[in-house]
Amino acid sequence: MEPNKITFAQQYDLYGCYQCGKCTGGCPVAMKSRLNIRRLMIEGVLGRVLDRVGEREEIWDCTTCKTCTLRCPRGLKPMDLVIGLRGVLVEEGRIPKTLIEAMENAYKHRNPWGKSKSKRTEWLRELPEGLRVKDFSRGERAEYLYFVGCTASSDPRIQEVARSMVFLLDRAGVDFGILGIEEQCCGNEIRRMGEAGLFEELRDGNLEVFEAYGVKRLFTTCPHGLNTFRNEYPQGRFEVFHSSEILLRAFREGKIRFDRELRKVVTYHDPCFLGKQNGLFDPPRELIASIPGIQFREMDRSRERSLCCEGGGGKMWVESSSDVGQRLAELRVQDAVALGAEVLVTACPLCVLTLEDAVKTSGYEDRVRVMDLVELLAEVVG
Ligand code: SF4
Ligand code: SF4
Repeated sequence: MEPNKITFAQQYDLYGCYQCGKCTGGCPVAMKSRLNIRRLMIEGVLGRVLDRVGEREEIWDCTTCKTCTLRCPRGLKPMDLVIGLRGVLVEEGRIPKTLIEAMENAYKHRNPWGKSKSKRTEWLRELPEGLRVKDFSRGERAEYLYFVGCTASSDPRIQEVARSMVFLLDRAGVDFGILGIEEQCCGNEIRRMGEAGLFEELRDGNLEVFEAYGVKRLFTTCPHGLNTFRNEYPQGRFEVFHSSEILLRAFREGKIRFDRELRKVVTYHDPCFLGKQNGLFDPPRELIASIPGIQFREMDRSRERSLCCEGGGGKMWVESSSDVGQRLAELRVQDAVALGAEVLVTACPLCVLTLEDAVKTSGYEDRVRVMDLVELLAEVVG
């Protein structure tokens, strides 16, 4: 059933919009797609946004980077309108084929990448010798839960990030464990694809497991997991941290040092879900700055103005013919190369994948290397 147009407009507070266009002005996708968030807002006010919504392929081009919401002088939430419109499309079954697959995988395997739950711990096989990770699902307990996440569990490139994190945690003496084969998708991307029902199912499943194992503190290397655990799960039941916060605390307490010299020019790309969405701009920078020999150069589009890499909002799974311009990750890599950066550091598995791919498609393999922050730190730990 089509939602009532007036109720829909009220739900997303569309009547407060005075059409200043700051949302579209900040939207990184607007320059290359038909997506025009200001226009969607006015069409919502006029009761037209739901008309022929199924033909608006550009709704799937949004990366849910949140720039529009952060820039709106009226405090409105244009990004939520996009997620709401996707919800209408999901209800109607009008979903891009590649997204249907990701949703089905998340339902069936509890992982949008489609890897089965029984293989969730495969990444542990290549841990450095002597390292062992506690597993809550095998009856072990620890102070922190390391929520590894679907991408680090499934993608061979990002499995390296998870192993680097374990190595650093061991060096810092952090007492942590994983959920092993009981870990399942956090739901952050699924919610942004508009599949609210499946998100709730995943969230409730995770909460049940956290409760059963008495989890009170957890951390992720993935800002997407961090975001949903921190902002979209019930508040006050457990504390949520990003890997950069855990490592920074250990560093400040003198439990770990990053004192092997690295004579490289380094820049840092702020992941949208870490920086813009959760205000964590400084911990990664402080950790990088602690490495002797490094020459850190800031990109012009950084912090709140950082350019999105297009890895969020389900875009890892979307193929769209309305998004025709150059990939933002390629522009980002050009920013880094123009600075003379030899290492482009980020702190998100999806950013690592999109940026690394962009380095290859741009032919910059000999110029710049993409690394997750924990990989960089693992190379210089004392
Ligand atoms: S969330 Fe980002 S990509 Fe989506 S409409 Fe807003 S600014 Fe554009
Ligand atoms: S920034 Fe806010 S007030 Fe301005 S057009 Fe966008 S939604 Fe409307």
